Amino acid sequence: MTPAVVPRLARLGASISLEKDAGLGATFADGVYKDVSFSSGVGALVSDADVVLAVQPPAIEAVEAMKAGALLVSFLYGAANPTLVEALRDRKITALAMELIPRISRAQSMDALSSQAALTGYYAPLLGAVNMPRILPMMTTAVGSLRAAKVLVMGLGVAGLSALATAHRLGAITEGYDVRPETAEQAQSLGAKFVDTGVDARGEGGYAREFTADEKNHVRGVLSQHIADADMIITTAAVPGRRAPVLISADQVAAMKPGAVIVDLGAEGGGNCEGTKPGETVRAGPVTIVGPLDVPSALSEHASELYAKNILNLLASIVKNGAIKLDFSDEVIAATAVSHNGEIRNEAVRKAVE
Ligand code: NAD
Repeated sequence: MTPAVVPRLARLGASISLEKDAGLGATFADGVYKDVSFSSGVGALVSDADVVLAVQPPAIEAVEAMKAGALLVSFLYGAANPTLVEALRDRKITALAMELIPRISRAQSMDALSSQAALTGYYAPLLGAVNMPRILPMMTTAVGSLRAAKVLVMGLGVAGLSALATAHRLGAITEGYDVRPETAEQAQSLGAKFVDTGVDARGEGGYAREFTADEKNHVRGVLSQHIADADMIITTAAVPGRRAPVLISADQVAAMKPGAVIVDLGAEGGGNCEGTKPGETVRAGPVTIVGPLDVPSALSEHASELYAKNILNLLASIVKNGAIKLDFSDEVIAATAVSHNGEIRNEAVRKAVE
């Protein structure tokens, strides 16, 4: 929660309690929040609340301390956290999972995956730049010109397009690649060339589907040349609910230019590159592989600003005249509700729990 969003939340009819020092890591000291109360233990904080707003999935003790029937809005990753989901169900908490906000126009202002991915993508070329022994733009000096670096972005969702934009602004020559052909135009509008492999892997709901074995081999051949030519590669490929696809093999890494860098934003989902160590920066033969985790925390002020607004917009859509009115026929509520009134409502999560 940011100080600027507190009054907007209050206008919905809420009185607001914050965990002591909650904003400190995002530059917001307790003193800059107006009209809020503070509580130091999570248990004491949540036990009185009708609505609990959080970033990460709560600890079981926090769920047990919540009022029965309260509303929780947070990232939950229920399928991976069955014990948490059971605790939410048993405590009769209505839990709305931020990672399940549907990708529809009306919900764009609530979509925290997108807002955080935009920041993560922006940051990736900066992480790459400080790990490279070269500069990104062309530079003319008294002793001759330095050539612009080539940056290849693989996976052109929200994060990938944002990465292309930053790399272009920094003066690099940019190329983008994705299995969804409609991303070609989006990459080109950001000044990048599109690497066309001739394979269309559009899946449901605007997401990608997995490749067949033949498709994999063909694409690998086309991409090898582009990988070998790059000074920096940023990978962001993801397939919902699965391990991140591996786009760069150890052989392809070994064939890269000495000093090149790979920033693997797929690290959180296991990595898009063979050799990535999630959370670490490692040398692999001629290249450096950066495997950052939780990038939004490195941009904590703006990450918080966007997340607080995403949550505010979700709440504003369910508060009518100062009261929470949950309409389960509303597409956003139907998609995000993991538990309600002692039941697990989300089918994928229910299957994982049972
Ligand atoms: P994501 O994080 O799920 O995946 C990142 C990218 O990786 C995707 O573009 C995907 O096609 C690509 N990818 C997957 N496997 C790959 C492979 N083997 N090789 C190369 N690329 C691969 O993506 P995202 O940022 O969540 O966006 C997914 C889609 O959802 C996009 O079409 C985006 O425009 C759309 N979207 C819509 C809304 C909305 O309408 N509210 C909001 C956000 C995103």
